[in-house]
Parts: sequence; structure tokens; C-alpha cells
Amino acid sequence: MNMIQEILKRFSRKVFTGEDFLFLLNVEDEQDFQPVFEYSEKICESVYGRDVFVRGILEFSNICTRNCFYCGLRKGNDRLKRYRMKPDEIFKEVRKVSEKGIRTIVLQSGEDDHFTDEIMASLLERIKKNFNMAITLSIGERSYESYKQLKEAGADRFLLRIETSDEKLFKRLHPDGNFQQRKKCLHFLKELGYELGTGIMVGLPGQSCSSLVKDIFFFKEVGADMIGIGPFLSHQDTPLRNFRPRKFFLTLKVLALIRCLLPDVNIPATTAMGTIDPQGRQKALAAGANVIMPNLSPAVYRPLYQLYDNKICVYETSANCLSCTEEIVRQAGKTVCLGRGDRIKQ
Ligand code: SF4
Repeated sequence: MNMIQEILKRFSRKVFTGEDFLFLLNVEDEQDFQPVFEYSEKICESVYGRDVFVRGILEFSNICTRNCFYCGLRKGNDRLKRYRMKPDEIFKEVRKVSEKGIRTIVLQSGEDDHFTDEIMASLLERIKKNFNMAITLSIGERSYESYKQLKEAGADRFLLRIETSDEKLFKRLHPDGNFQQRKKCLHFLKELGYELGTGIMVGLPGQSCSSLVKDIFFFKEVGADMIGIGPFLSHQDTPLRNFRPRKFFLTLKVLALIRCLLPDVNIPATTAMGTIDPQGRQKALAAGANVIMPNLSPAVYRPLYQLYDNKICVYETSANCLSCTEEIVRQAGKTVCLGRGDRIKQ
């Protein structure tokens, strides 16, 4: 039996070690790795069957007070035209998403001070009162009291990526960020009963495979319910503009190993994976992802939410984006599921 088969046998006995993960992350031949992808897809299907949960994303403001080195929305990028949707406009767009039968809305923005707790809470209450939907927020770091107020107003889930669990690397990428504070926020969210989403970028400058192994165990330690994995993609108006690692295969391997370790978490086939490889999202679904998130932001704003260069789907309409998403799911041999898509805890 070769080493990969031996490791998979250990996985089936629920024995997971850093050494085995490290070995697998260093496998260079895609064919050699194929049995691991087949295994991780099987694990995913043992929990979620062939269902792929669809979540509609609404990017409601591209204004941000931070300066993360990798992000096109960073405050220091003065070449980007900024926008901020009004609560009424956001509500109208959420209605459209609901009318499509989608039962999860993801409200995403930069860290925009304008959206105070009062403004957000009143919007959440209005959405909850009018639509039968799960609400996911992706609006960055806030205080415990703020997360509490938003939870009480109706938010069900929160996405806050750690980006890397390596404190030194985190510091190098976030000139105005604090690793311990980010971790604290994740703990607040968990304590408050949110479904907790976090994630990392793969291929960051200075990131090693050992660091990725630590990230995978970090997700377990923090109690993540959703884990978003994307390859690092550069943006021309950021300090990392010339760094172009394009680590698609490595990203896919990380995704598969997360699925092996955490069989019942929700894992999206991210837009970044579809950007780096035209079949990226189909491949992610075949490696253990079970969520897909079509961009349902108004067409006028989409090109302005530039996290990285050449982001796909920015010139589509919402209707196109949804039908394209459904096609991707079908191509992967899976079934579109518009329901809430809560984590099925095992
Ligand atoms: S990653 Fe988030 S917090 Fe950082 S600059 Fe971009 S939008 Fe702002």
C-alpha cells in the first residue's frame, strides 16, 4: 500500500496528524492526489448527500476603514470609486433574493463605520419580519456588544476570516489589524450562538505548508461551522500587486483536508476558485465543498467590489449569476438546494 492509501486508512479511523496533512499538502502530482479528493467528496456526501446550498451575496458597501495589504477595498486605494447602499435599497434587493426562493442572504461590506449597530439592527429586524431567510453577516470586526445586538436583531451567522492562523504573517498583512483581537471576535461570535464562518487565503507571501496545517487544526479549535478557502489573488492597486502565486491545486488540497477533518462543516466553492480556474468551483464541489454563493448585488455596484483583479461574475445580471450557479452545480453532478442550509451537526 502506498503512503496516500495508508493515510486514508488512518483518516477512516479518525486519526489525523499534522505529519500526514503535511505529507499530503506536499504531493505535487494531481493524479496521485485523486484518491484523497474522492475520499473527501464521499465524506461530504455522507453528511450532505448531493445537496449544494445556495446563498445569495449582497455586497452593500465597498467603503472600508482598514488597509489590509491584499485587498482592493483597502482605504488607501484611492483609485476605487466607492459606493454605499441605503438600508431601503438593501431591503429591496433582499426582497428580490427572497422572491427567487433563496433562503439565505449574505450581507457583506468593508468595515464601514456608517453602518452603526442601530442602522444594522433595524435593517435586520425588517428583513426577519418580512422574509423567511437566514441572515449571514460579513462586516468585519466589532465589539461583543455590537455582535450581541445584531444577533438579537436577527442575524444567524457571521463570516470573519482569520486569513492565516500564523500571528506573525497576520501582522505583516494587516498593518492596522491585531491577531489576538481577531481571534477574540471569533470567540465572541461563537459564544453568542452565531453559526461561525471563518477561512484563509492560500498562497500568501511567506506562508508555508506547515502554516496551512496549523490553519486546518485552528478551524477545529475555534469551532468553525463554515470555512471559506480561497487562493490568494493579487489586486493591482495594493502593495501586493506583483505577488502572483496562483496556488489553485494547493487550495483544493487544503479544502479536501478540511473536509476530512471536519465532515459536517459548510464549505463554499468560492468565487476566487472560479476566478483562478474556469472549472474551479466544479472542482471544489468534487473535492468536498457543499455551498455556492452567487453574487446577487445590483449590476451597477458589482464591478466596484474589487477584492482582487479579474474577479468573475462582475458583469452578469443577478438572474444570469443564479442560472450560471445552478449550471455549475449540475455539472458537478449535484443538486441545487435553495433552503437555509444550516450546518448538520454530527
Ligand atoms: S479585507 Fe476587509 S477589512 Fe481588509 S481592507 Fe478589505 S474589506 Fe477592509
